[in-house]
Amino acid sequence: MASNSFDLIVIGAGPAGYVGALRAAQLGLSVACVEKEAALGGSCLRVGCIPSKALLESSERFASARHELKSHGVNVSGVELDLPVMMRRKDQIVAALATGIDGLFKKRKVTRVLGHGTLAGKGKVVVETKDGPRELQAKSILIATGSRPSPLRGVVLDGDRVGASTEALAYPVVPKHLVVIGAGVIGLELGSVWRRLGARVTVLEFLDRILPGMDAELAAEARRCFEKQGMEFKLSTRVTSARSVGGAARVECEGAPAIECDRVLLAVGRSPNTERLGLESVGIALDAKGRVPVDAHFATSSPGVYAVGDVIPGPMLAHKAEEEAVACVERIVVGYGHVDYNTIPSVVYTDPEVASVGRTEEELKAAGVAFKKGSFPFAANGRARALGHTEGRVKILADASTDRVLGVHIIGARAGDLIAEAAVAMAFHASAEDIARACHAHPTLSEAIKEAALAVSGAALHI
Ligand code: FAD
Ligand code: NAD
Repeated sequence: MASNSFDLIVIGAGPAGYVGALRAAQLGLSVACVEKEAALGGSCLRVGCIPSKALLESSERFASARHELKSHGVNVSGVELDLPVMMRRKDQIVAALATGIDGLFKKRKVTRVLGHGTLAGKGKVVVETKDGPRELQAKSILIATGSRPSPLRGVVLDGDRVGASTEALAYPVVPKHLVVIGAGVIGLELGSVWRRLGARVTVLEFLDRILPGMDAELAAEARRCFEKQGMEFKLSTRVTSARSVGGAARVECEGAPAIECDRVLLAVGRSPNTERLGLESVGIALDAKGRVPVDAHFATSSPGVYAVGDVIPGPMLAHKAEEEAVACVERIVVGYGHVDYNTIPSVVYTDPEVASVGRTEEELKAAGVAFKKGSFPFAANGRARALGHTEGRVKILADASTDRVLGVHIIGARAGDLIAEAAVAMAFHASAEDIARACHAHPTLSEAIKEAALAVSGAALHI
């Protein structure tokens, strides 16, 4: 008979849960991972990071074939969209990666339990399996139940015409007119996918800017780029209702005419998954935003119960969730583990990509920190010219007296890959001069980082 007693029970198999389970098993613990969905990988793999990036990649190829290849002297005719094939490719990528996690669980001997898990008092989790309730016991429990799309008052989600990101990853046909509520990461990434595939896309945003939290200068530049691609923005706009009407949808905003469209994507943030989790059975109370409060070591108020990922405060990012899971498990097993929240990069996978790590100009000004700024445009970078992607820039912010790098913000081609250098530099407390004196291969986009670092002290060579 299968054992029901473990060193660690993890609830949720997203980037937080499955990575925590793997690391714990690697460190010698017996581990059970409870997941209610048949596929492992969480929102990130099933309905988030991976399917959205698959569609972003495919739609970018489509747009490039139609609009860009010509400038390279490559003439293609009869470019057509085969949406079912594009969707199948995305589904296959997701399925292959989910199977991969299954394989890793087997390799590390993590016991997978399929069903909804509920805490049932100290050291106990009851799982609703297809064969009835199964009670598991462990010394430690890690809550990694993630998040789901936040609702918005007046917006009636029907899983079809009016939906959230999961629906927008699988529209059966290209919408004629897609209205996106929220100019955050999901709205802009998935709005970009459907715009490239031919939809008219209108983005309604409550604030007077897009991408709140990102460096304001870069966000403004991103908006100009998206507008050039045909995306329409209505900022400072409060949506009061959205609902399906017959075979279409209607969106109403305060002080503006109603918009008739054929699909609505609601993307105004995500909320933690804590329903039927049994937190009350171990005396854990949620914070004002419905998240599980934890201390610096991811311990909840209940001894032996920990939480990581989207269900706790902090940016809702897969890599943040993974780092927390590893640090939490290492702390349980070896006694220490740490996440450096100053160096967690953030990437928006649009065209151009927008990536940042560390503090923004606005944050430094608000904190009264004196800083120097170096900026370098991709238009002056040879590789960017060869790629035909000259939009954007690298901006480096460094402490005015010590030269220590405090923030790096990039908008441009492959910014999401370039930001890794900045994150590593900041993790090692590098100065702008450290980056500037490191040899960068030529011709690469990374030379723009070196030049921006040189620009911090007014020494950029190519501008
Ligand atoms: P989740 O991935 O949400 O996993 C939690 C798991 O727990 C789920 O599988 C759920 O079924 C399970 N679960 C919940 N409750 C129970 C229970 N009681 N019993 C059993 N199982 C339970 N982040 C990035 O860093 N990069 C990106 O490019 C990116 N793109 C995204 C695109 C979209 C469209 C979306 C929606 C999100 C994206 N994110 C991205 C955010 C990222 O998906 C999350 O930050 C990440 O998934 C959080 O990981 P997690 O493990 O905390 O939670
Ligand atoms: P978000 O917080 O990024 O953006 C939500 C946007 O909706 C904000 O601009 C906000 O001002 C706006 N908004 C809020 N209420 C509104 C209203 N009533 N009317 C109009 N606009 C309103 O949230 P998201 O785009 O839903 O993404 C959720 C989470 O998923 C984010 O925390 C993000 O980190 C994560 N995610 C990350 C990636 C990535 O890393 N590339 C991709 C997708 C999602």
